[in-house]
Amino acid sequence: MTQELDLWFDPTKCLIAGKWVSPEGGEDLPLFNPSSGEQIGSIARGTKADIDAAVAAADAAWRGEWGKVTAVERGRILFRLGQLVLQRVEHLARIEAIDVGKPLKQARADAVALARYLEFYGGAADKLHGETIPYLDGYTVYTLREPHGVTGHIVPWNYPMQIIGRSVGAALATGNACVLKPAEDACLTALAFADLARQAGLPDGALNVVPGLGSEAGAALCTHPGVHHVSFTGSVATGVQVQAAAARNVVPVTLELGGKSPQLVFDDADLDAALPFLVNAGIQNAGQTCSASSRILVHRSIHDQVVERMATRYTSLQVGPALADLDVGPLISGKQKSIVSGFLDKGNDLSKAAEGLLKEAPEGGNYIKPTLFADVSADHSLARDEIFGPVQVIIPFDEEDEAVAIANGTDYGLVASIWSRDGARQMRLARKIRSGQVFINNYGAGGGVELPFGGMGKSGHGREKGFEALYGFTTLKTVAAYHG
Ligand code: NAD
Repeated sequence: MTQELDLWFDPTKCLIAGKWVSPEGGEDLPLFNPSSGEQIGSIARGTKADIDAAVAAADAAWRGEWGKVTAVERGRILFRLGQLVLQRVEHLARIEAIDVGKPLKQARADAVALARYLEFYGGAADKLHGETIPYLDGYTVYTLREPHGVTGHIVPWNYPMQIIGRSVGAALATGNACVLKPAEDACLTALAFADLARQAGLPDGALNVVPGLGSEAGAALCTHPGVHHVSFTGSVATGVQVQAAAARNVVPVTLELGGKSPQLVFDDADLDAALPFLVNAGIQNAGQTCSASSRILVHRSIHDQVVERMATRYTSLQVGPALADLDVGPLISGKQKSIVSGFLDKGNDLSKAAEGLLKEAPEGGNYIKPTLFADVSADHSLARDEIFGPVQVIIPFDEEDEAVAIANGTDYGLVASIWSRDGARQMRLARKIRSGQVFINNYGAGGGVELPFGGMGKSGHGREKGFEALYGFTTLKTVAAYHG
């Protein structure tokens, strides 16, 4: 294992029932550095046997010690865990930067967001109430919010810390016991997090982590009859499989899938304010963000002006190794690079407005120059399909209704933003746009741990983040007492 990572745990092990154990199959998977393409170590290749053990451990924890921990104490544990994360922000950020290939400052923001999720859900743990319901004479009726029991968490490689914070954080706050299957391409901070959780006093078995392949450990987790809720973040294709598997066990799923999120820029927009958001929302984490804004819809009267200003920013974008901490890092893998290159080839018939520059980017790294296309038709593949790379298209429109139709014209509906000074238009469009989140004169509101997040259409269903997530990680029981 490379010394640069300076790990205090062994990533070739799984954490099950509070113990670091080798996977039953005794096999490892290679760990690659996206910035260099080099193998820098190995991780555990967990399989069905390990998932079985992890689910059994979670079940025992939920029915045993962890199930008896009060809401107040769960909150305290999450606060302590948040403090441990904050103390280790630099170290966690470095691990994530090397593992995922994201520039250090972005990885640092992820670590701080992870701590913030733990603070938020730690604070919320004892504030989730049931209600009393007026009913027939002689009855007292009330509801209880109870944990599902064992929750499965399948996480992708693009924002491991943030996604673990929002799903595992909310699940633990509500008293569930978790089995976490991180992505095979980036599992190190999941293991680090689980070890910190032990240090924070989380009882054994309340959080178990089994790294491994999606087709092995992932499939075993979402099909396991002992799992009572599945939280999945990843691609649409896998989400469909996860939902089908959960249906067979009749358990609820939360699906956080892809997006093709638009920003609508009207002729009365404050362009100085909009410009940083227009570009950053597309290139953050090299565009490998579910909520990346990959479509910029611009009123035709200002199209050329917006193209010119975005192009100026693009030509100054520097692309290089994660630890060089430039604007854009490498993509996660060679596979992802070839997918994005394929989209760029499809864009050969388009007008390329600008691209960024490679800076000391090693040969073997998975680098792609950020690319901006102008005057793109809304029905082009690059304007409809999720690319998951640093590629943005600018689509001109003439009328407000046309802009809404284009915004709603893909399979997805995750995030959108409206740039306009017209208050009535802001309100009108916020209702008309089909999207889980709509931002007005901003994009993303700086992350927003407090803000419910999730999709419409093929972007998924269910909500994570904010207080809303706590409802998803609990089930409601109605108690009707007849006392005469
Ligand atoms: P993916 O679906 O291939 O993998 C996601 C996770 O699912 C990984 O842990 C993987 O091991 C696991 N997995 C793969 N096959 C599985 C199976 N058959 N059963 C169970 N688990 C399986 O997606 P990806 O390539 O890692 O991530 C990219 C996609 O994720 C993009 O489409 C992106 O938009 C989406 N994403 C969405 C959000 C969101 O919050 N909406 C966040 C991040 C990524």
